[in-house]
Amino acid sequence: MNYIIFDLEWNQASSESDPKKKILPFEVIEIGAVKLDGHKNQISKFSKLIKPHVYTKMHPITKKMLHMQIEDLNQEGSFVDIMNEFLKWCGKEYVFCTWGVLDLLELQRNMKYFYMDSLTNGPLKYLDVQKLFSLAFEDGKSRRTLEYAVDLLDIEKDIAFHRAYSDAYYTAKVFSKINNPVVESKYSFDVFIPPKTKKDEVKIVFETYEKYISRTFEDKNAAMEDREVISTKCFYCHKNIKKKIKWFTVNGKHFLSLSYCDVHGPMKSKIRMKKSDDDRTYVIKTSKFITNEAADELIQKYHRYKKGKSSQI
Ligand SMILES: [Zn+2]
Repeated sequence: MNYIIFDLEWNQASSESDPKKKILPFEVIEIGAVKLDGHKNQISKFSKLIKPHVYTKMHPITKKMLHMQIEDLNQEGSFVDIMNEFLKWCGKEYVFCTWGVLDLLELQRNMKYFYMDSLTNGPLKYLDVQKLFSLAFEDGKSRRTLEYAVDLLDIEKDIAFHRAYSDAYYTAKVFSKINNPVVESKYSFDVFIPPKTKKDEVKIVFETYEKYISRTFEDKNAAMEDREVISTKCFYCHKNIKKKIKWFTVNGKHFLSLSYCDVHGPMKSKIRMKKSDDDRTYVIKTSKFITNEAADELIQKYHRYKKGKSSQI
């Protein structure tokens, strides 16, 4: 399987009140990518500019960053043409890799805007190299700039930053330095298209936690009535385990619960409510085993919440 490491440059509305901003906040004007084989050797490159269709004035930030005028793009192909060319270049067996979470999201938003078929029927598995960099070299939570990572890893800066191809090229260089199968198994999921049916739902066990992405529901209440959404199963034993604290929410967006597995101890589960592009609701549930101290803290949080609730009445 190959790795497709890509990066986009985009343009945006020059005026805050532009109504198109809501539908397409960023219009892709450049796609740059590097193809690596399974051993992370670069085997091909892709670099194309795109003629803008939605925003035909260059935003000052874009102009400054890319050193480009809108006139420079007028001879280029349309988004649909370049995108089709890009997908053909990607081939059949590949996984997308990007620096951060935005590029895959904006790519799909542009595809939808131009009525192209979606890349998948549900969440799209990819590698977020920015996250992997942090897991491999820092605390696993930091979000560094690409240039920071390049400096830290002593990668030679032989081409200028902030063009799609060069940023893909440097992302590939950082990715090649990771060389840690455990880190590289930490896939991310882009949920621009949430699961439509139960069959498309995602349930995956990482080293220390489980992640579940539900299909979409009419609203939050409907989601919280679904058995799978509210179930708490030990992801090691595969058994339903008893809830010590039933689902509660402090802010209406996140729900927490605490369960106990006889073998593995206290397990904390968290449900986050998410909105899909078509305004339906899906949930991301994560479960992980925690220490007894952390469990006690959660119990106290729950009691404070209960108390606060009863004093409001
Ligand atoms: Zn268990």
